[in-house]
Order: sequence, then structure tokens, then C-alpha cells
Amino acid sequence: MGLTGATGTEAGLRRVFAPGEEIFREGEAGDVAYIIERGRVEISNLVDGRRQVLAVLLAGDLFGEMALIDQNERTATARALDETEVVCISDGYVHRRLTDSDPLIGLFLRVVLARYREMRGQLLLRERPEPTAQERGDLAEQREAALVRLRFEEEIRLGLENGEFEPFFQPIIDLRAGRIAGFEALARWHHPERGLVPPGEFIGIAEQSDLIKGIGLRVFERACAALRRFEAIDGVGPLSMSVNLSGRQLDDPQLPQQLAAVIERSEVAPERLKLEIVESLLMGNPELAEATLLRLKGLGAKVAIDDFGTGYSSLSYLHRFPIDTLKIDRSFVISMQDDIRSMEIVRVLSDLSRGLQMSIIAEGVETAEQRATLYALQCDFGQGFLFSRPLPEKEAVALLQSRPHW
Ligand code: C2E
Ligand code: CA
Ligand code: CA
Repeated sequence: MGLTGATGTEAGLRRVFAPGEEIFREGEAGDVAYIIERGRVEISNLVDGRRQVLAVLLAGDLFGEMALIDQNERTATARALDETEVVCISDGYVHRRLTDSDPLIGLFLRVVLARYREMRGQLLLRERPEPTAQERGDLAEQREAALVRLRFEEEIRLGLENGEFEPFFQPIIDLRAGRIAGFEALARWHHPERGLVPPGEFIGIAEQSDLIKGIGLRVFERACAALRRFEAIDGVGPLSMSVNLSGRQLDDPQLPQQLAAVIERSEVAPERLKLEIVESLLMGNPELAEATLLRLKGLGAKVAIDDFGTGYSSLSYLHRFPIDTLKIDRSFVISMQDDIRSMEIVRVLSDLSRGLQMSIIAEGVETAEQRATLYALQCDFGQGFLFSRPLPEKEAVALLQSRPHW
């Protein structure tokens, strides 16, 4: 039974094999590895026409990984002895991980595997030295960590299918007028058991797989729809809507057309949309970044540099990239009060942005004192708990209806 069609490059899918059922056969091309959740699996091969059992694997054991990593055919047959449940890990998933990880680790794995295959003929499994208690413990820990990770990714995938990801909206305040100028959409996961999960707990993992593309697109769609509803409120003028983009989304050649389709469907004015990108993403491959930003700008959307000051902070790229807004990282706003250098940095950025015709947003404004300092430094916009925490859409609507003034 082929798996690939059902799973694509996903990992974490579960399958149950009946007692005696073959999982894969020697000589086949291998595109899936497995971790046993329950049951037993016999690994065997043919030697001079006679079947020889190499190992019987139990819950927690990994198998089928060799063919997958070095892209060779299966060198053994795997068969369920009891009813056996496995977690599947596809080759696309592993190869992406290998490519993403330290290239040295990828190289090591491939070389070690190739040598192991060469030696296999002479090395019978029973001749392997017994692992020490320490080795067994380490292995069990790694296996558990891998399983936790796979299960989590599978949960995110299901959560996406079930529409459990929704943005909250945090207002961005025009400091001079004291009014809401726009919102930033921030992803939240409404987990059926765990409740509301903040992005810190899932964005990192999602970014290591393609799941972030699904989450990002969902947030973008919901944010566009919300913007339309916000602007339809009586007395509310044009607002901006900021959405975060991650590196994997930016690298995706499909991204601009996907965003364009959402913009068209939702009928928002594209110039109200602002795509937030952290500065380190621009520096890795500046040529590519420039081309991608130009394509995004081609949609009519604006571009903001997020967490500005925490990455490479090379001022030279500010004029190179088509940037509309700088978001000064919270850490400067926090230290501004006690550290004259932080305050000078904010002042310089504020002046610089004006000179370059960019707007500037200070993040993490929590106190009236910080707000007053930012105002004095002629910083245009502020965002932070002083004004409001990120809110569910309904509460953001209520806030707009109350016509707040700060
Ligand atoms: P970020 O883009 O820098 O978003 C601002 C974060 O600062 C938000 O955390 C917000 O709740 C928090 N914040 C705002 N004002 C204050 C304040 O006054 N004090 C403090 N202490 N914190 C404040 P949140 O919502 O937990 O998001 C964390 C990060 O997760 C975001 O940082 C962003 O990097 C990422 N993220 C959130 N949603 C998405 C998304 O849809 N896509 C992507 N790629 N990343 C997202
Ligand atoms: Ca952001
Ligand atoms: Ca930020």
C-alpha cells in the first residue's frame, strides 16, 4: 500500500498493521521511515535463499531510516508480528530537515550510513556490543523527543484542517493623534484541549516545516477579512493591517500570487496591508530578498522591518530595500528610560526614518513615561500593553466602536 499520495511531505501520520502484514520488502525503493508506537516488528533478509531474522523491534524503535536517508533500496523486509501502530516519517520531511540542519551533520549522517552499508555483509547483528545503560537512556530520551515533536507537528496539521488558528489583533496607535492607526494580526491557536496557545509555543516548530505557510496564509486571510469589517464600523477611517511573514514563506515562489488571490477575494485596498519581516531574513541572501520584496510591493502592499535593531542592524540596507516602516524592538523601548544610548538610538532611527520617508513604530510600549519619551523623540506610532493587548476580533471591534483616545 503506497503512502506517499496520502502524506505528501508530511510526517506524523499513523498507520496500523495487522499481525503478519508486511510493512516493506527488501529491494523496494524506500520513501518512509517508521517509529513503533505499539506492537512488534520483525526485520529480516534473505541470505542464500534463506530468511534470516535480523532483529525484533519494539515500541519506541525506529526502522526503515537507512533507505530513506541515503536513498538506496530497502536492504531488509519489515513485518508486523502483532497488531502494530507506527508513526510515519516521509523522505521529503527527512531530506528537508537534513538540508536545513547543519550541513556537517547531514554529511556525517550520509557518510556513516554509506560505511555501515559497506560493512553490513560482515557484521551480524548479534555481534554488536551491548549498549550501556547510559547509551540506552540517551537513545530513549532522543526517541521520546523525536516522537513528541512528530506528534506536535501532526497536531498543528490537524489544527489547520480544523480551522483552529485565528489571529488576535493588537492596535497600533498614532502617537500624535492618540488614535488607532491600524492593527497587527498575531496568530493564536485555539487548541481543543490546551485552550489558547500563544505563538511562542508553535511558530518555531511550524517554521521548521511547511506548516508555517498554512498558518501564515490563514492569518493573512483572516486579517484581510477583519480589516474590511473594522473599516466598515461607523466613524472609523482607513486602517492599516500588519501581518508577519516568516523566512520559509518568503522563500516560497508561490507566496506573492497566493497573497494576491486573498487580496482580490477579500477586496481590501492592498496599500492598507503591511507585511512584517525580521531584518535577519534580508541579510542572508540580499539579492533574493530584494527581488522578493519587490514582488510583494508589486501587490501594492507595504513592507515593515520587524524587531529592528536586534539583527544585523546594517543601516546600509535601509536604502537598498523597498521598506516603508521600521518597527523598533521592544528592548530599546524598555532600556530607553535608564540608558541614554538606547534613547539616542531611538532618536537617530526616528530622524533617519523621516529622512528616508519611512514611518516608525515603537514596540512594547507599556508605560505613560515611555509614551511621552517616544512622543518627544517624534516617533510616529506606538504599540504595546499601555494601549491594548492583542484582542480577539470581537473585542477589537468593540474597542473601535468605543472610539478610544489615548
Ligand atoms: P512580534 O511580531 O514581534 O509581535 C509582537 C509581540 O509582542 C506579540 O507577542 C505581542 O503580544 C507582544 N507585545 C505587544 N506589546 C507588548 C508589550 O507592551 N509588552 C510585552 N511584553 N509584549 C508585547 P505574541 O503575540 O506572543 O507573538 C510573538 C511572536 O510570534 C511575534 O512577535 C511574531 O514573531 C510571531 N508571530 C505571531 N503571529 C505570527 C504569524 O502569524 N506569523 C508568523 N510568521 N509569526 C507570528
Ligand atoms: Ca511583528
Ligand atoms: Ca516585533
